[in-house]
Amino acid sequence: MPEPVDPAIALSEIVKEFPIRRGSSVRALDGFDLTVAHGEFVAILGPSGCGKSTVLRLVAGLERATVGQVRVEGRAPAELIRGHRLGVAFQEHALLPWASARANIELPFKVAGRPVDRARVDELLNLVGLAGFADARPRQLSGGMRQRVAIARALALEPDVLLLDEPFGALDAVTRRRMNLELARIWQAQRITTLLVTHDVDEAVLLADRVVVMTGRPGRVRHVQRVDIPRPRGTEVTREPAFHELVDELTGLLDEPEPADSVSPGGSASPGSSANPDSVSPDSLSSAGQPPRPAA
Ligand code: ADP
Ligand code: MG
Repeated sequence: MPEPVDPAIALSEIVKEFPIRRGSSVRALDGFDLTVAHGEFVAILGPSGCGKSTVLRLVAGLERATVGQVRVEGRAPAELIRGHRLGVAFQEHALLPWASARANIELPFKVAGRPVDRARVDELLNLVGLAGFADARPRQLSGGMRQRVAIARALALEPDVLLLDEPFGALDAVTRRRMNLELARIWQAQRITTLLVTHDVDEAVLLADRVVVMTGRPGRVRHVQRVDIPRPRGTEVTREPAFHELVDELTGLLDEPEPADSVSPGGSASPGSSANPDSVSPDSLSSAGQPPRPAA
């Protein structure tokens, strides 16, 4: 497929290593390449620990690539963050518990040192269907409502790029489907370049223009699937054979072991990293100084 000219997001030849203890590191990404066109919605699927969140954190400027270049709107991510051009909703980005839904959505204006645009905040509350809950605190809202506040907050400053890391991961299946349809509607109205990390294949196919499937760690692009299902995509889409064919194909790919020649050469024998890239479980990394546990 031809590369988009002047892409909104470009990651090229990315290697990302995390030092874990003296002289040793985990290679999370190795040769990861992806370009996203302006106004495109790209979903990223891949096995747990393959580097999906790392990709988003690189685009968000929260991590720096060990090797390779990340450009967002032709600039380094840090520049976009300074200009408040990035909207981010990560699962761990909690709402302020003591602040109302409205105050949470107003937060980006305050962080940016801008006057709060009340009309915009009202518009967002409407957009995410929370007009009647503007004064409610997060604990008075359901999980789905809290996620909608987080998405409204990410959209507050009309970002050029929206980054969503498993934003619906904590929701039950029914609420999740409802949120997917909501996000499809919001995206249809705003057409913001969006990068979504998910482990839900249905969600990826329902929402994305392209679905990227990553290899296991060290992650790189294993397969890119274009989703040619017409928009707007409502609930009826999920009953169409074309939808199920794509979901089955991608699910099959995720279940299927990678062909040996797709395993990247630097992955299992990078200097300083453990011999088997899967021998370091994410859990063992959270306790600093602990030797990595062998995989079960
Ligand atoms: P995913 O989101 O696909 O589950 P991540 O991007 O969170 O995967 O992590 C990829 C790999 O990098 C994992 O092995 C993880 O343990 C490791 N990793 C991520 N962040 C750090 C960090 N700050 N320090 C050390 N290792 C990390
Ligand atoms: Mg993750």
